[in-house]
Amino acid sequence: MSFQKCLLNSTYLNIVSLPLPFIYPISAIFPISSAQNPPLYQTLVFHHQLYILEREALFEGRKKSENKAKMGSLEPETHISFNGSCNVTGKNLSTDSVINLDETKGKMGSFEPETRISNGRCNGTGMKLSTDSVINFDRGDPTMYESFWQEMGQRSTIVISGSQSMSYFSDVRNICWFMEPELAQEIKKLHQLVGNAETKDRHIIVGTGSSQLIQAALYALSPSDASEPMNVVSAVPYYSSYPPLTDYLRSKLYRWAGDAYTFNEDAPYIEFVTSPNNPDGSIRKAVVNKSGGKMVHDLAYYWPQYTPISSAADHDLMLFAVSKCTGHAGTRIGWALVKDVEVAKKMIKFIELNTIGVSKDSQLRAAKIIHTVCDGYEGGDTGGVERFFEYGHRLMTERWERLREALRESTLFSLPEFQLDFCNFTGEIRTTLPAFAWLKCEGDIEDLEMFLKSNKILTRSGKHCGADPKYVRVSMVDRDEIFNLFVKRLSVCH
Ligand code: PMP
Repeated sequence: MSFQKCLLNSTYLNIVSLPLPFIYPISAIFPISSAQNPPLYQTLVFHHQLYILEREALFEGRKKSENKAKMGSLEPETHISFNGSCNVTGKNLSTDSVINLDETKGKMGSFEPETRISNGRCNGTGMKLSTDSVINFDRGDPTMYESFWQEMGQRSTIVISGSQSMSYFSDVRNICWFMEPELAQEIKKLHQLVGNAETKDRHIIVGTGSSQLIQAALYALSPSDASEPMNVVSAVPYYSSYPPLTDYLRSKLYRWAGDAYTFNEDAPYIEFVTSPNNPDGSIRKAVVNKSGGKMVHDLAYYWPQYTPISSAADHDLMLFAVSKCTGHAGTRIGWALVKDVEVAKKMIKFIELNTIGVSKDSQLRAAKIIHTVCDGYEGGDTGGVERFFEYGHRLMTERWERLREALRESTLFSLPEFQLDFCNFTGEIRTTLPAFAWLKCEGDIEDLEMFLKSNKILTRSGKHCGADPKYVRVSMVDRDEIFNLFVKRLSVCH
């Protein structure tokens, strides 16, 4: 090891646990002057400054966490200590390495298990579907894809041994230190294959579903020192989870400000642009377009089975998820493509505080699933099974045709119409086939959700999306047998 490296390593590893007030001036740490060796001195000054910045961040974090009950934040010093040969650092443990045995714990909330009450044999209940079963299409549980993955069998299986994935860390050279490199690589490959998003010069951040990344984005895009919370808007009808995700913690950083079409405050804002949109499938652009605005492009449904891929999205902050892409909602993996490194760092900080990273097991599974999808397009053996996006598109086409056919004569219900567009992925002119049907009651019924509920069909009312209760959102991505029952029941509802 060179003298410089030796000096840097031993000095940093030994002073890493000093509290901030004891950060020494550079002259006290390095016994060398600028005149003696100018290049070395410059390197030392640079590293020293970096070190002080890290210590300041750490000290700030400590001050806050000492004042409060423990929040479950991972102390940043673990980044710099690395416990020897851990993971992919390639560094070796030396006798004076910092041994980091600090650990903190967090607690998570619960998920309403309402989907368990219906949908036949769903969720391992062992129940059978009968003609009068409750149909739960309130949630967009994408179980439609199960049959594809059953056919894929071993090609999509991974085995994780007891000794694998044990560390908190995945890749300490990446600013997103909890991101598995295999997953990052597969995500890039998938976007390249589909052509739906630019990944060049972007930071990829993995999250526990894109739900966590939505919150990370709000945290990252809201200034921490503003006198007023940042306004968060989205155009009606918006994804019904945006208001509660924004307001459930009553944050002082941001607040839900409603419909983007009617937002006219002269204040900074964050706009969620969801395209194709949940709930109505429309293709969207930002609507506020004022200075001081920051956009989060939620592209959860920008995949070829739902919509033509007209161009590679190139926005500052884009969100995707395996739940809607491959159907693996239970794996809870989403990702953000972020241009600005400072925004990326704050999002990573949020995930660190929130869940100390993201399940490695899930990441490895998601990587395998995405790999299997891509492999089908790269000449891999599909065992005679249709390739994934063709399969998804065929099912969505059949379902939308059947639903439209069932309602063709209806004077009570209507569905939105969609334009045709050229799909760069398939080279065909195609229409949008949304994952949700935005059903409108054209009759006298004022509350369509209640009406359908009386027919044992659970849906999400338009009122949760900022729209009229004459609308409901209906999942189009559940299992075949349940979708069939739904179409049958809806066609006899008057
Ligand atoms: N954004 C949109 C528009 C969605 O529809 C959903 C899921 N319903 C999410 C984000 C959250 O997805 P995930 O399962 O990845 O948390």
